[in-house]
Amino acid sequence: MKVIAEFDPWKNPLCTCPKKYSFNPYTGCAHKCDYCYATYIPNFWEVREKKNLSKRLEGDLEKLPRNALISMSNSSDPYPPIEKTRKITRRCLEIIKNYDVRLLIITKSNIVIRDVDLLRDLRCAVAITVTGFSSRIFEPLAPKPEERIEALKFLKDCGIPIILRLDPLMPWMKKEEWFAILEKCYFVDHVATSTLKLRKDSFERIAKINPDLREFLKQLYFERGEKICSSWYLSKELREKLLSVVENKCKELGISCAFCREGIPFKAKSCDGSHLIK
Ligand code: SF4
Repeated sequence: MKVIAEFDPWKNPLCTCPKKYSFNPYTGCAHKCDYCYATYIPNFWEVREKKNLSKRLEGDLEKLPRNALISMSNSSDPYPPIEKTRKITRRCLEIIKNYDVRLLIITKSNIVIRDVDLLRDLRCAVAITVTGFSSRIFEPLAPKPEERIEALKFLKDCGIPIILRLDPLMPWMKKEEWFAILEKCYFVDHVATSTLKLRKDSFERIAKINPDLREFLKQLYFERGEKICSSWYLSKELREKLLSVVENKCKELGISCAFCREGIPFKAKSCDGSHLIK
């Protein structure tokens, strides 16, 4: 296939996702999150369009089994600012609508609400990431958290299944901030959460923005944490502690909650919220 790929070809042992495929309408991402794990892609902060995308997408969709689950996007954002004028993702939705597949949209942008007319015709769910109100310094070019929460509410009111990705949980943040987000997003259908994982470059970017975190993160991750595949994790004990804070709050609010790539069991029907797609 040319533009749709098998999700997680590296078979991460902690991945609990159902079988799915990955599709990125754009290469690279403009949101510039310092904690981003996809920066192994060359020139990652430069958003690029793909040649003959519509044709190649159609060709790949023809090859997919019926009812296949497509995740859009995992190593970019389908709604970078240029999508407002270029409408590449919108064109992809118009094409996908003609196939019997399920679509999980993952974004950090409120531009997604523009396409609600198409989303209503698709078998889809929309996941929007919000990490905190104080964490915006680490995701400087993404829309404000308040705008993303408004987008979730708008989609909910339009009948689209919605997922809050409270992800990543940054270990220096206070739990009250996560509670504030969850309380504002009390209406979501599912919460997917995970702790911050670090690679050398993301560690350096975070430490550059906030030098006070350098020693703190060094100890938590490189001394007391563990390396799994190519990322540094917090210790399992600390991950369990942070994740249970979010899980318990979700329980109180009556929202299903799952963990992404943590190796820690959860009760929700799927980790990514794909169970919501009918
Ligand atoms: S929105 Fe996602 S892909 Fe884009 S920079 Fe942020 S973490 Fe990376």
